[in-house]
Amino acid sequence: MQDRFIFTRHRTTCYHCGKEADQVIKAVPYQAQVVCSNCGATRIFVPRIEDVSKPGSYTRIGCYDLWTLVSDARCRNCGVTGPHDLAIGCNHFTVRCRNCGFTHFYKFSLEYIAQCPIEEES
Ligand SMILES: [Zn+2]
Ligand SMILES: [Zn+2]
Repeated sequence: MQDRFIFTRHRTTCYHCGKEADQVIKAVPYQAQVVCSNCGATRIFVPRIEDVSKPGSYTRIGCYDLWTLVSDARCRNCGVTGPHDLAIGCNHFTVRCRNCGFTHFYKFSLEYIAQCPIEEES
């Protein structure tokens, strides 16, 4: 069983430490998280909705920059491995399959600073 769905990173200025650092982005069907590789600031998102939708659905303007990224993943709906559009804001995290439009919508749940950041995966 392959549990990892999305694993990517986005280099930007961290909202917490203020440094430009990779923000490590992971999503699995039951949770999504964004972790600053510099300071360990972690944001956890929990799934709310899974549905087939149009592009831009569920996307709202956040309180800071909305990150729009693309990552390859295997869709749980159509089974195709291909590009998924990610939209990450301060209150939401969406992943949408470009092939069939299946969208995972995660809502912001909590935030903490990790004692030791997640290690690089080899
Ligand atoms: Zn940071
Ligand atoms: Zn799909």
